[in-house]
Amino acid sequence: METFKIILPCHNEEENINVIHKKVCEETKNLDYLFEFTFVDDGSTDDTWKKIEELSKNFKHINGISLSRNFGHQSAIQAGIELSNDDSLIIMDADLQDNPKYIREFIKEWEKGYQVVLAKRIDRDENFFRKIIFSIFFNIQKKLTDIDIPKDVGHFSLIDKEVIKEMKRFPENFTYFNGLRTYLGFKTAYVDVIKEKRLYGNATMTYRKLFSLGLNGIFSFSSKPINFIALLGFTISIGSLLVSAYSLFHKFRYGTTILGWTFGLSSIYFLSGIQLLSLSIIGQYIGRIFVDIKRRPSYIISKTLNT
Ligand code: UDP
Ligand code: MG
Repeated sequence: METFKIILPCHNEEENINVIHKKVCEETKNLDYLFEFTFVDDGSTDDTWKKIEELSKNFKHINGISLSRNFGHQSAIQAGIELSNDDSLIIMDADLQDNPKYIREFIKEWEKGYQVVLAKRIDRDENFFRKIIFSIFFNIQKKLTDIDIPKDVGHFSLIDKEVIKEMKRFPENFTYFNGLRTYLGFKTAYVDVIKEKRLYGNATMTYRKLFSLGLNGIFSFSSKPINFIALLGFTISIGSLLVSAYSLFHKFRYGTTILGWTFGLSSIYFLSGIQLLSLSIIGQYIGRIFVDIKRRPSYIISKTLNT
């Protein structure tokens, strides 16, 4: 019988572990498949690991991975995927923002032959500011990336074992799981979902972490920012040639200059700004090369349960 393994990255989710397990079991009990759970404890400082251990004593279908410290959401997902054997996977958050009731719909699509099923958020039960930030990010990402990463899609998804096999061949660390999943291609279906409110605890994906994830989402999957610098440089050069030609013409024809020192000063500030911006864009790529070249693992496992 086909087994689905549910990967749940957890950072300080002690109150949510039992609830998510119970809810997923309720939602899947009438389905003709086996379901296993892999909880990845991403360096929690509360009793998350203790809860996972307790649960694994009562249920055979519980696996646990404990990372040696907090490595971040993407690394926790990577650990869960790399330690899964040859099953199809369902990836979801442990805080019940991804409602387990959609798993049935994912499986219906999978049965039709779709190898990747993605949850498309038609609404999110979150504060207005966070909604705006996400909307701006997805629009920028759509314009800037080379692959067509779908808008309003998060980690919540079902991925067939054949796709997982291909994903495991990638030598790189997961810095932006959504991008990698899109890069792989395969037949993809969407299920409309509403992202719920977090059940217990607070989001640990702070704005700082989200910002850095957003940068990975753009710079790990696109060289368009580099082309943008080239285009900008070319446009400014043409503009400066035209202005110089016109001021020379004016000087020889009428004997007066038209551009004063204010123009010169503001041009210097403007061009310095553009140069710093361009350098920082190049820096984004160099920073990523610097991290990748060391080939450090993106997570370290301190303990496992049943895996
Ligand atoms: N998470 C994690 N490591 C982290 C931060 C978060 O494994 O460093 C987990 C967290 O426990 C949850 C999921 O990733 O299951 C999403 O995190 P969160 O709810 O904080 O973020 P949001 O829902 O706002 O994206
Ligand atoms: Mg959450």
